[in-house]
Amino acid sequence: KEVNAVGHRVVHGGEKFACSTLLTEEVLKTVESCNDLAPLHNPPTLVGVAACKELLPTTPMVGVFDTAFHQTMPPEAYIYGLPYEYYEKYAVRRYGFHGTSHKYVSLRAAEILGKKPEDLKIVVCHLGNGSSISAVDGGKCVDTSMGLTPLAGFEMGTRCGDIDPAIVPYLMKKENLTPDEIDTIMNKKSGLLGITGISSDFRDAEAAMNEGNERAKLGLDMFRYQIAKYIGSYVIALGGCDAIVFTAGIGENDDYVREEVCKYLGYLGVAIDKEANDSHGEEVKIS
Ligand code: AMP
Repeated sequence: KEVNAVGHRVVHGGEKFACSTLLTEEVLKTVESCNDLAPLHNPPTLVGVAACKELLPTTPMVGVFDTAFHQTMPPEAYIYGLPYEYYEKYAVRRYGFHGTSHKYVSLRAAEILGKKPEDLKIVVCHLGNGSSISAVDGGKCVDTSMGLTPLAGFEMGTRCGDIDPAIVPYLMKKENLTPDEIDTIMNKKSGLLGITGISSDFRDAEAAMNEGNERAKLGLDMFRYQIAKYIGSYVIALGGCDAIVFTAGIGENDDYVREEVCKYLGYLGVAIDKEANDSHGEEVKIS
């Protein structure tokens, strides 16, 4: 009885949800209709909601959507260069994920800087096992690296991020792969794991690189390079930048990645303070 409500993180809410929503039967059906778009994430969430409802039948269940924060993106940022009918028929567009993190972190950064979110242009780098970067203008998301699914963007622990789309049919033909098989390769066997052949964990890759492993170094070099390119493009999308924020497992803890990414950003006036950057899991200004 002491539980007033249960919040459920829902990864994909499609275009239907721009804020947290009470999970009525009708809303749950809509969430289920997004299962195809986030097959790793949405179905287990529905199982979790059902379990909580069984235990707490009168307690409100609330869906907190990863996609909601990104619903403010303008169409030029979320429409793909495909025939428009696929957007109309199947809602194929960029959605973006990690919205709860991007929202919280950009608001918190404003608080730390002692400024109003409306007055700030912020690039948020959520770097974890899954990674995404967002451009936040005046507290609203204007662009983000993940897409229709959380596979898009840059190299992640096991996901490939953006690749030439022609690679997909090419590899399917060459390796005689089904759609599910190529999907599994891109989601679970690619990224840092696929490049290094060792691990999806950045700690393991850094240890291997320090022992001279070339592919570990390549996987890490690709990661920092791709992040820097996204930051650069989002500074253009924002027309300036007041703060760059690093968060999630790698962003919070990995001083090497932060330093290496910031090395590309000197032309923006970014200069990292090595001593301040030697921090892990704290809120700290590192420039
Ligand atoms: P997350 O998905 O946000 O929980 O992030 C998990 C990932 O963060 C792990 O797979 C690691 O690659 C990375 N990580 C966690 N701690 C550290 C650390 N101290 N140094 C480098 N990477 C870390």
